[in-house]
Amino acid sequence: MQLPTKHKFSAEVKEYIKARYEITQNITHIAAEIKGKFDFEDDVELLRRNVGRFLKRDNIKQQKKDIKRLFFDIETSYYLVPTFQFWKVNINTDNIIRDKKIICICYKWQYEDKVHTLVWDKNHDDTKLVKDFIQVIKHADEIVAHNGDKFDMKELRTRAILTDNLMFPVYRTLDTLKKSRQYFRFASNKLDYIGKALGVGRKLDHEGMKMWIDICEHKDAKQQAKMVDYCKQDVILLEDVYTAISPYIYHNTNFAVLTGKPKWYCPECASKNVQLSHTDATAMGIIRRHMKCNSCKKFYKISNKTYLFMMECLIRAAK
Ligand SMILES: [Zn+2]
Repeated sequence: MQLPTKHKFSAEVKEYIKARYEITQNITHIAAEIKGKFDFEDDVELLRRNVGRFLKRDNIKQQKKDIKRLFFDIETSYYLVPTFQFWKVNINTDNIIRDKKIICICYKWQYEDKVHTLVWDKNHDDTKLVKDFIQVIKHADEIVAHNGDKFDMKELRTRAILTDNLMFPVYRTLDTLKKSRQYFRFASNKLDYIGKALGVGRKLDHEGMKMWIDICEHKDAKQQAKMVDYCKQDVILLEDVYTAISPYIYHNTNFAVLTGKPKWYCPECASKNVQLSHTDATAMGIIRRHMKCNSCKKFYKISNKTYLFMMECLIRAAK
């Protein structure tokens, strides 16, 4: 049994409080936890005050975690292959003269203005580009791309293994193409079309295959710069489309929990300016609370238990 907390916490208890404080701001929760875990005699209220005092005295600050959502787009080169005809072509993979590589990757962080660019080197080697981008996505809490799950992430992983760069097998992603198919019926699910339909922008026009040939066969720097601009515009359009559809789709990553906020905060922007929209029950009789964020307009579901905890917090805050 631990002594009453007018005495200092043991090193073990201090470590526990510090570790928990990184995840939750709720000191009452931490106090209740250490009471059970370390068998304190004091009541939770007294423990709560002592936890607060300890955090203040030892100047322990919660690590503020920002929402790190990454938008990106990849442009690849083509396979160079010999062919004797142009209609119903069937090419054996043994005849590949030159493999497909990544020409450029453009990416931007949510809420930042800068679009970053990575380009293959002058010898058309993408080893460093792949290595650098893997370092970038390591820091992302969620990676957003249009058709990213099927195309971009797999292209990247294929280049990673072929250039001997290690990469995680799984990333938290949100594929805007998948979301578009799941929640809407636009005339087309192409990014350019959705952007146009929602009035948020369009892709840049380019000459198509000629641009690729100029870059890959003639190392045309001007054309390559154009491709980078085209890719950058795609990333900007991607973020704008994402922002427009976000209130209408369910999230893949809960940023409230990820940034150390309670579960009832908005999962999209981690705001606590939220309200109950309506309540329903599943076939099994489980109550679900549908919430609406007043900051970013996101709709989301929480359990009844989480909802009651929210009410408790709000009542306590109003006192
Ligand atoms: Zn929100």
